[in-house]
This record gives sequence, C-alpha cells and structure tokens, in this order.
Amino acid sequence: MKKYLWGVDLGGTKIEGVVMNAETNEILIRKRIPTEADSGYQHIISQIKKLIDLLIAETNIQPNRIGFSTPGTLDPTLQTMKNCNTTCMNGEPMKRDIEIALGIPIEMANDANCFALAEATMGIVPEKAPNAQVIFGVILGTGVGGGVVVNGKVIGGRHGIGGEWGHNVSEENGEPCYCGKAGCNEKVFAGPALEKYYSKISGENRKLKEIYERHLAGTDAHATATMKRLVKSLGKALHYVVNVIDPDVIVFGGGVSNIDLVYTEAKAELENWIFNNRKVETLFLRPKLGDSAGVFGAIELVR
Ligand SMILES: [Zn+2]
Repeated sequence: MKKYLWGVDLGGTKIEGVVMNAETNEILIRKRIPTEADSGYQHIISQIKKLIDLLIAETNIQPNRIGFSTPGTLDPTLQTMKNCNTTCMNGEPMKRDIEIALGIPIEMANDANCFALAEATMGIVPEKAPNAQVIFGVILGTGVGGGVVVNGKVIGGRHGIGGEWGHNVSEENGEPCYCGKAGCNEKVFAGPALEKYYSKISGENRKLKEIYERHLAGTDAHATATMKRLVKSLGKALHYVVNVIDPDVIVFGGGVSNIDLVYTEAKAELENWIFNNRKVETLFLRPKLGDSAGVFGAIELVR
C-alpha cells in the first residue's frame, strides 16, 4: 500500500501544505493559502483546517498524522506557543487546538529546526556530506534562527529553545530586541540589522544586496565596513556553537546567506576563535531546498 506523508509550513503570511509519496518523495500536491494572521489566532486555526480540507478533497486521501513547521516554539512543558513573531500565537495551546480542529495527531517544530532537518535529510547535506552526523542549520534572513540536527533528529531541548542562537547576546549595549534582551545576534547580522548599520554610518538607505555589490566594487567604504561587521560578528558568534557541538556541517539559509563572504571570510574568522589548532574542517554549505525547506522539514517530523 502506498503511504503518504503530510507536511504544513505555517508562516506569518502564508500556509503551505504538501502531500508526498513516502517511498519516492514525489510531491502529489502542494497548496498555499494566506494565513491572514491579522484576523487573529482562531482564524489561523480555521485557515489550517480549510487548507487540509482542500488537500483531502483534491487527493481523496485522509491523513492520519501531519507535521507542522511553525514560527516560534511549542513549550514542551506548558504545551503553549512562545517566541512567535506572529504574536497572536504566543501563549496559545496551538498543537492541541489544531489536533481538535483536524481530529488527528500532529507533530510540530519551529521553522529554523524544520529548515535544518530538511537540509540534513533531503537537502544539501546527503549530497555533499553523506556521513555527517551533527548539522547546525542557520537562517540568516529578516531574523536569525538556528536548529541542531543529530543523526537525523532535531534537538528540541528541555525548553524547546534548542538551536535558538539568534538570541544569543553578542554585543554589549546593542540594539534592543523583541525577545527582551539587547544586542542579540539577530540585531547584529540579520539582513535588517546590517542595513540599519549601513544607514547609521553612511546616512543612506540601501538594500543588503546593493551594499554587498558596492563593497565588491570597492567604491564605498561604508559598505565595506558593513560587510566587515557581518564577517567578524558571524564568525565569532559561530565559534560559540562550534566549541559546544562541533558540527560536521553548517548549512545557511535566508537572504544574508546569498553573500559569498559567509562561506569564505566568516569561516576564516571562525578559525581565529575556536579551540582548535588546525584548519577548520566544518563544511559551510549553501541550502538546496529554498522556500520548500519548511514544508519538507515538517514532513520529516512524521516520516
Ligand atoms: Zn533577541
């Protein structure tokens, strides 16, 4: 009998559902609907139900379990959501509410953990480092998220904050963060943080891509200073991870990961900091799955 895997990527603006053949990894159907988070928490639950009903109607297949990638984390003790930038989810027993709405059990993990899991199991890692056991996945986008995968399993952690390196504090007296701290990694080298830094030192507003291009052209000292900030702060911040879990692979996603310096100069900077006396062997990899990492990671939760 053919078995199908169901995964949902619940985002702040869209909800995407995929049904996949478990044997061939062939995608049977993929559908997106808007989250409409402004309409509140209950509305999000009803949108999820609507999406699943659409998938059932079009495939004529009934799911018996579904994996979910979510913004923020389900607290393993309290069983309520926390750390969601879609703030209406925070404090809500979302796993229970989705299970009641759908009438089946679900698995949940946050989006950065799903990214790491997807790239580790179906993405770039099996292709470039098939024997890798410990993978650190990092999303360097509008925020900074992280996830740790060991032997194909996400390390969720006691508080559900395993991998939440984006909120490690790396700058004394830095920019205040929505998490309540200041100077978090996210406030130093996420895309908007770098753009803000450039704006502060140059007096001009530019997108990160343009800042990088101006650095490459060698015509804008402020752009070069901004890229230097990325390289120095990212390399140093990564050494705290490498000295603890010493991953075989670090795979990067998000807009900032398109900057080549992440794989060259930031890696060289890491080498300056870690407790090691020879060249860093950790592979720094670009992602393979793009926007699909969330939904594929969700599927891996129920494989
Ligand atoms: Zn923070």
